[in-house]
Amino acid sequence: MNGKREIYLDNSATTRCFPEAAALMQEIFLEDYGNPSSMHHRGVTAERRIREAKKTLAGILKVQEKNLYFTSCGTESDNLALIGGALAARRRGKHLITTQIEHPAVLESMRYLEAQGFEVTRLGVDRDGLVSPEEVAAAVRPDTILVSVMHTNNEIGSVQPVEEIGKAVKAANPGTLFHVDAVQGFCKAAIYPKRMQIDLLAASGHKIHGPKGTGLLYVADGVRLEPLLHGGGQQGGLRSGTENVPGIAGMALAAGVLCRDLDADRQKLFSMKNRLLTRLQEIPDVFFNGRTDETAAPHILSVRVPGVRAEVLLHALEDRGIYVSSGSACSSNHPRPSETLAAIGTPASEMDNSIRLSLSVMNTMEEMDLAADAIAELVPFLRRFVRR
Ligand code: PLP
Repeated sequence: MNGKREIYLDNSATTRCFPEAAALMQEIFLEDYGNPSSMHHRGVTAERRIREAKKTLAGILKVQEKNLYFTSCGTESDNLALIGGALAARRRGKHLITTQIEHPAVLESMRYLEAQGFEVTRLGVDRDGLVSPEEVAAAVRPDTILVSVMHTNNEIGSVQPVEEIGKAVKAANPGTLFHVDAVQGFCKAAIYPKRMQIDLLAASGHKIHGPKGTGLLYVADGVRLEPLLHGGGQQGGLRSGTENVPGIAGMALAAGVLCRDLDADRQKLFSMKNRLLTRLQEIPDVFFNGRTDETAAPHILSVRVPGVRAEVLLHALEDRGIYVSSGSACSSNHPRPSETLAAIGTPASEMDNSIRLSLSVMNTMEEMDLAADAIAELVPFLRRFVRR
């Protein structure tokens, strides 16, 4: 930093690590550096770190520790669940169901599976970005082996009725697996795989103030997955490779901190988001993608500003030390039209006009006012001087 105040509103892209998590990781890097597969004292200590992390994460999800696996990111968790799940079940059927608004980690895994001979149904969403449980149920067939619906959308923050979808899937075909990409919802909402009939659930450490390079996959009892990595047989052979012990411990500690008082944190996030909403609503011709009430994610606000290209506004805000994203930051290295914005019926002429503001518990109300002030000042200026 050059002394200029920074306001970080890109927390759905990634978060700043909690200092407690960074300190724990440093301690493990320097002291408990053993390989958890080693039989000596250093290995046993490292293995204990993993067990402690599992205990914390299992407590949050209300599942058993034996059902949790560690991966390198949310993308890997989604890939393992979908590709591993489909390959293991291919003798029972070749039909998969997902939605049009999934993250590329799911959409591209589905495309890969299609190329391998599977058939994929992609369900649409309504204008709020919501999937209907009835439509999911109607799409399930006797040969449907897996349904994948995300918990919280990363671009517009719509939160799917996951519990109803889980029930609908199982009622239509008890043998169909239900996968949920919970990368944006984990530690932002109460998610209980067992109650929600979820068989596979993916989460990621760096979205919850833990380290990058860490992911989590919940696998229900009796669910078979073909491993994607072959090697030393760690984690019951499902995910070979020496475990990232510092990362795993850091992710679990961060999750524990965030979930200590989930209700209070959600209220804090909603209050900040509502402040932004109220302030931005005062700007003429500014719209919000998806719902803005408390059925949506507490931390994501997608703002459409017709007449201003998202990238131009993003960089104008950056000049003032305010960091936001245009569409989904995960794909910003390869800009392409957002499948989510298209699926909710955004007019073609306005596909390039949305920015995403995503909050974390590290933000403050004052930052919301400063960001809203900056947007309110920049929008009329950019509308006048910058061509679309
Ligand atoms: N799924 C969703 C909904 C996401 O938002 C992201 C990242 O933005 C991912 C999956 C991928 O997670 P990771 O960055 O840990 O690979």
